[in-house]
Amino acid sequence: MKKIGIIGGGASGMMAAIAASKKGASVMILEKQDRIGKKILATGNGKCNLSNLSFSAQRDYHSRDKEKLEKYFDRFCVQDTISFFEECGLMITDKNGYLYPRSGQAATVLNLFLEQLEKYQVKVQTECVVESVSHTKKGYLVKTNKEEYYFDELILSAGSSAGTKEKDKLGGMQLIKELQIKADPMLPALTAIRCSGEQWKAMAGVRCDGEITVILQDKQGKTQTFRERGELQLTEYGISGIPTFQLSRHVSKALQQHNKTEAYLDFIPELSWQEWKLVFEKQVKRSTGRNVLSFTEGMINKKVAQVLLKEAGIRNTELICYPMNDSAKKLMQLFKKYPIAIKETNPVFVSQVCAGGVYLSELDENLQVKAHQGLYVTGELADVDGRCGGYNLQWAWTSG
Ligand SMILES: Cc1cc2nc3c(=O)[nH]c(=O)nc-3n(C[C@H](O)[C@H](O)[C@H](O)COP(=O)(O)OP(=O)(O)OC[C@H]3O[C@@H](n4cnc5c(N)ncnc54)[C@H](O)[C@@H]3O)c2cc1C
Repeated sequence: MKKIGIIGGGASGMMAAIAASKKGASVMILEKQDRIGKKILATGNGKCNLSNLSFSAQRDYHSRDKEKLEKYFDRFCVQDTISFFEECGLMITDKNGYLYPRSGQAATVLNLFLEQLEKYQVKVQTECVVESVSHTKKGYLVKTNKEEYYFDELILSAGSSAGTKEKDKLGGMQLIKELQIKADPMLPALTAIRCSGEQWKAMAGVRCDGEITVILQDKQGKTQTFRERGELQLTEYGISGIPTFQLSRHVSKALQQHNKTEAYLDFIPELSWQEWKLVFEKQVKRSTGRNVLSFTEGMINKKVAQVLLKEAGIRNTELICYPMNDSAKKLMQLFKKYPIAIKETNPVFVSQVCAGGVYLSELDENLQVKAHQGLYVTGELADVDGRCGGYNLQWAWTSG
């Protein structure tokens, strides 16, 4: 019987363990934490958004090699995920395409995995930190803080440190480096963006509809623009919320390469600039003589209103006058294009995933490392990161 070792008992490692043991292998998971699958419990705010019915590898994922990525999804995708979980006895619910366990509890998904691992007699070693991996004549030698193990084949499912509160350890990247497999550094993705300026403290706690635009410029002067709309969450250090998360991987990469970043918030994303100008001017006209703060508050959260007024050089006690003066015009502009100064992203350990990892070009159609027969890579350790919405777990299931 083939002996397979799996480094990391996260989503992709557990899925790989079940797949391998279903094919008759003897499987052992080596997990450094005190229990397996811990991260799953935190997913989807404890509800586990396990996949998404609206799916496009091109649109929903980032990777150096999206064509290859599509081929992996051709073999196991959303419907296969649904079938897998349903066969295990899970009822899945669909919220606008976002898939969750019907129980509304991520723990249900983890418990189901634990049940399957037991059913297929997968051995699990916890508090077992893999320190090195080498290819020997006897197979793969895995040295841990406890024992040494030999396996015929090895699956690297060590993920990333995203969401793990381990500031200094970048998951399995150390092992990848030692094995000389080509990979991009792991950078925070799906995370908040920290900005300079005192105004953030004044706006902390605000949640509002908005759009973020980020313009990135590399050393050759090439620019890329990214735009996301949705619920903005303003914090005491900058911006958070889903639109920010979706953009953050591009910001991480730009900052790592010391490229220029420029960013704006649009607090009235539902209107074009021309439409907004007409609306704003009409509002000013009909509000002549009113207090400027209550006028602005009529359109936006008070905390944001105060910041925009200050930036436009207008005192809260002033009265609206028509025709508009320069400060009123500046205020009108700030609503649609409020400049923010990006400082950094939140660090990896408070991010949801990492961008970077092993190039797909290093792997064959079964995610086997081309240069190391019998060595496989799954999950976040590969150069694949998805948007918010169940796409990262879908990749974990697919690769596992
Ligand atoms: C707060 C949060 C919420 C999220 N919500 C969602 C969501 O709702 N939907 C979604 O699709 N995605 C979500 N994600 C992302 C998703 O959880 C991950 O993409 C997915 O879990 C990655 O699976 P993985 O198997 O690659 O790695 P991981 O789940 O990170 O598992 C890797 C495992 O390897 C272990 N390990 C690492 N190094 C070693 C070593 N040297 N020796 C032994 N063991 C080791 C780790 O302890 C860990 O258990 C969320 C992530 C976070 C942090």
